[in-house]
Amino acid sequence: MSQHFLLSAAARTLSLSAVARMSEEEAHSALQQIRWSDNGGEPYCPRCGCAASYAYTTRRLWKCKGCGHQYSVTSGTIFAGRKLDIRDYLLAIAIFCNSAKGTSALQLSRDLDVQYKTAFVLAHKLREAMAAEDIGATVSGEVEVDGCYVGGYVKPANWKEHRRDRRFARNQNGKREVVIVARERNGKTLTFVSKTEDGAVPTIQKIVAPGSVVYADEASHWDQLQARFLTRRINHSQVYSDGVGCTNQAESFFSRLRRAEIGTYHHFAGPYLGAYAAEMDWREDHRRTSNGEQFLMVANAAMGHAVSRQWKGYWQRCR
Ligand SMILES: [Zn+2]
Repeated sequence: MSQHFLLSAAARTLSLSAVARMSEEEAHSALQQIRWSDNGGEPYCPRCGCAASYAYTTRRLWKCKGCGHQYSVTSGTIFAGRKLDIRDYLLAIAIFCNSAKGTSALQLSRDLDVQYKTAFVLAHKLREAMAAEDIGATVSGEVEVDGCYVGGYVKPANWKEHRRDRRFARNQNGKREVVIVARERNGKTLTFVSKTEDGAVPTIQKIVAPGSVVYADEASHWDQLQARFLTRRINHSQVYSDGVGCTNQAESFFSRLRRAEIGTYHHFAGPYLGAYAAEMDWREDHRRTSNGEQFLMVANAAMGHAVSRQWKGYWQRCR
């Protein structure tokens, strides 16, 4: 039997201790190389693109000779307005990549010795950068579609006579949402959040390329997909896979999503559910990539991502 990828040495190409031992100078030049990799690591102005700049000797800043804009290695990126050392950002990315089921903000705050609020925003900035690779993406070929309900838990009353049948809508709290996945067999995963599976059909029709074969379970709302795609259905009350039809790839994504919810985040329903789903989607798609490459991918994504409208100055707005 061949060795599982995650057990092999090839899966481990990043050492947390090596990142932790970096001086701030080394961390800065590493991030500079990542940010301006298209220019051999030489800085150019984020505002006008001019490569000629004055470098300050007392601070790690440049001033554009073209437009006079003063910029640092993180200006105009998702880490714009940073307050931590650059090494802390590299450490945060390394820790985030090393944990297959995600890293909670509390754990990150302990690892980096920063406030919970700082870690919460930092982790969400990484999620936003990771999610960017799926913007406008579609899936094609053999695509499995399914939904996973999250949130809206109603605690049963203490006394039996006070308990209500939580299967009825009138006894639910309306907070339950569904993460929809469209997953290529042996390929890309796309996720989004919907109020119901039924309501997700129009979006699925948009993100699944025409000509694809769609695999779905027996739920009647997936019948609408038959108008546009060749569909194969599998009745889970009888069989999980009949050799051709199954949604097991979608289910295995949900298995990891659920483990992240139960084991790491404990609660991720609500306004940021889509961000957590996108994070787990990224982890799913890159699970057979070495941690060193994952680190570079996230660092690249963060450096290539514009300032986050949602997360920059989040706590200044939400006090
Ligand atoms: Zn400029």
